[in-house]
Amino acid sequence: MNTVLVIGAGAAGMMAAYAAAQAGASVLCVEKNEKCGRKIYISGKGRCNLTNACAPDELAGNVVSNPKFLYSTFSKFNNESAIRFFHEQGLATKVERGNRVFPVSDHASDVIRTLETACRKAGVRFRMNTEVRDILVAGGRFKAAVLDDGQTLAADACVIATGGLSYPTTGSSGDGFGWARKLGVAVTDLRPSLVGLRVKEDCCARMEGLSLKNVEVRILDGGKEVFREFGEMLFTRRGVSGPVILTASARIGKRLETRELKMFIDLKPALDEKKLDERILRDFEGEKNRDFANSLGKLLPVKMIPEVIGLSDIAPQTKVHEIRRGQRLQLIQVIKNFPLTITGSGDFSEAVVTQGGVSVREIDPSAMRVKKVPGLFMAGEILDVDALTGGFNFTIAWSTGYTAGINAAKYAAGNED
Ligand SMILES: Cc1cc2nc3c(=O)[nH]c(=O)nc-3n(C[C@H](O)[C@H](O)[C@H](O)COP(=O)(O)OP(=O)(O)OC[C@H]3O[C@@H](n4cnc5c(N)ncnc54)[C@H](O)[C@@H]3O)c2cc1C
Repeated sequence: MNTVLVIGAGAAGMMAAYAAAQAGASVLCVEKNEKCGRKIYISGKGRCNLTNACAPDELAGNVVSNPKFLYSTFSKFNNESAIRFFHEQGLATKVERGNRVFPVSDHASDVIRTLETACRKAGVRFRMNTEVRDILVAGGRFKAAVLDDGQTLAADACVIATGGLSYPTTGSSGDGFGWARKLGVAVTDLRPSLVGLRVKEDCCARMEGLSLKNVEVRILDGGKEVFREFGEMLFTRRGVSGPVILTASARIGKRLETRELKMFIDLKPALDEKKLDERILRDFEGEKNRDFANSLGKLLPVKMIPEVIGLSDIAPQTKVHEIRRGQRLQLIQVIKNFPLTITGSGDFSEAVVTQGGVSVREIDPSAMRVKKVPGLFMAGEILDVDALTGGFNFTIAWSTGYTAGINAAKYAAGNED
């Protein structure tokens, strides 16, 4: 019969459906939402950063969990393949800062439309508003999917592409993890990643909305530095967020499950302590009779001044000319090491991706086949792979989706075990 069932019409599911249909299978893609690609729709602030135009051998360096597992699938379908695919399907793309690839139109909806049209042209049938409740296995092999209403959908092979746990409002509620566990397929610990961090100090709430460009963030676990990066961040009601912080969350999320970590922000990373002292002295020179509280306007953003003053041992009303060298050096320490205590990560509801998933040891990396269950394949965020921002998570979805689709079609045609 050569039938392939794809569960989930997100990035990985649609690519898997397309690839399986192109490889000759009769493909049905079921999706519980009324539309395909709801998460794609909100991705990249509605513009969809669909991949990254880096050299293909740089992809793995941007994968946080299990990059080696992806070598084989990236060798078959990588970022360049994804760009070629979208161009061939008529979607014009552009490259922005950090090699991020977007549709020229700046509309994520065009990415969804392109994928959906490619699927339909290849013969994929979609069934929307259709929720899979369970997976049936008979004789150790995939048999059928059971729908919410009890109906079964039999197929020769199945690709599960139900995503992770992040932004559950888009439909990604982690259903595939439950099916995997039931089948004896290991799922690693799941945690939110690419997410804001919660901070103990209440200064963050007072600085809510303040964005800092060109700062260096250092994070320490006990005495050990576990993260250091330069870039942009912002304060939120409950902590910190922004590009550098999202990257940090991917690197330190596991540690945060068991302990608090110290974070230090260097507000002037371009100036070493000596140069910063010279700069402060220059600023103070013109303001000798002013209160200290009114003397930092050229150096720091307004919202930050009371917080820095609060951590310095200089009273706000001190006249600038009264400030002693020792006090100035201590002020420099605060500016170079603004301290915060990270207590945890944000929730799944605000996380860009899920870290953890179906253990890569359960999956054949060259086919995305579930080793224990012939006929069953998995792709996308359901797997224990995640990457940094920049279009890398979609690249994983396209690549693993493509590999799963091709191999599910091969299996269904009887050309594989
Ligand atoms: C706000 C936000 C912005 C992002 N921006 C980017 C970006 O710009 N670039 C980038 O690379 N990555 C981005 N990502 C990450 C990227 O969107 C995901 O990594 C990617 O969508 C994962 O694709 P997937 O197909 O594996 O899962 P999903 O996109 O989550 O798709 C899973 C699909 O399965 C369906 N489904 C689930 N359970 C069932 C069931 N029981 N029955 C039927 N259907 C089911 C869901 O409804 C959903 O449509 C962003 C994520 C978020 C949340």
